[in-house]
Amino acid sequence: MLRRRVALVLGVLLVAAGVTAAVLRGGGGNSRPATTTVVLQLKPPVTAASLRAAARKVQANELGLVPVLMHHRIRPDGGDYDLTAPQFRAELARLYRENYVPVRAEDLVLRQLDVPAGKTPVVLTFDDSTKEQFFYRPDRTIKPDTAIGIMLAFARKHPDFKLAGTFYVNREPFAGVREGPAMLRWLVAHGFEIGNHTKDHIPFQLLNATQVQRQLVLGGRVITSAIPDAKVVTMALPLGVMPKPAVLARRGSWGSESYSFRGVFLVGANPAPSPFSRKFDPWAIPRIRTSPHSGVVDFGSTFWLDYLAKNPGERYVSDGDPAHISFPRAHARELRPRFRARSVAY
Ligand SMILES: [Zn+2]
Repeated sequence: MLRRRVALVLGVLLVAAGVTAAVLRGGGGNSRPATTTVVLQLKPPVTAASLRAAARKVQANELGLVPVLMHHRIRPDGGDYDLTAPQFRAELARLYRENYVPVRAEDLVLRQLDVPAGKTPVVLTFDDSTKEQFFYRPDRTIKPDTAIGIMLAFARKHPDFKLAGTFYVNREPFAGVREGPAMLRWLVAHGFEIGNHTKDHIPFQLLNATQVQRQLVLGGRVITSAIPDAKVVTMALPLGVMPKPAVLARRGSWGSESYSFRGVFLVGANPAPSPFSRKFDPWAIPRIRTSPHSGVVDFGSTFWLDYLAKNPGERYVSDGDPAHISFPRAHARELRPRFRARSVAY
């Protein structure tokens, strides 16, 4: 794909050079550049104008907001941090209907938001590796009313809603079941990321610097003992509390082992800025608590999905092409300057 794009761009450059040469030579009919034949076979040519037209057509805005939803348990009575199974199904149905495409937290921080044109990425995160998120029944099938059971059923009915998300796990994942490590491997094999949420989930204000680093090293071991070649890219702070000093959330070491993340996720309370925006801070990425309440200013998921539905111009909307960063010209000042070479402002 990339090679083809390079060929297209090269073709356009050659024809541009050829045309210029023809003009300089007085435009004689016999100075027709030999490259024209090649270029005519490569359709359509990618030009700055065609990139702008394609971006405008889908109202691409890759400087817009990306919701990062934070889920805890799926349980029959719901709760402030939890959803019932019907509420979670309704949330997935709404995301699908409103043109969101699930991605992993690492896709956001690594700026690899490869979603179709016109769609908005949504990061689905699941904290604390509970049995309400993923569990097997005695017959070895996945329990249908867990988060994974519900997502699998939804994806079966809607094959274009691919499974993706991030599980922030603690010690003894999924209620300490024997197959916990195998379940982490299953998640990775099915499009999910496993992120560090510390071993014991102790909020960092209760720990000194050594204890913070020990918790993150041991939290990493929970993952690498199941997936030896895992590169843990992101972490979520237990209860959203930053350590002192804050840099220990990004990198540190304990004993002979070290950790280094590319993104740190908070608890609360608004959509994340685009990773191409000047406002994006990979060391403090906000997450939105799932909440089924409509018409309530609780800064939960329903509140923010309603907000983004009413203000579509604030949403991140993909141009469908990971190589370019497209946005309406009015937003140009929000672009982080180092991405200027890839930008398509229309
Ligand atoms: Zn947690």
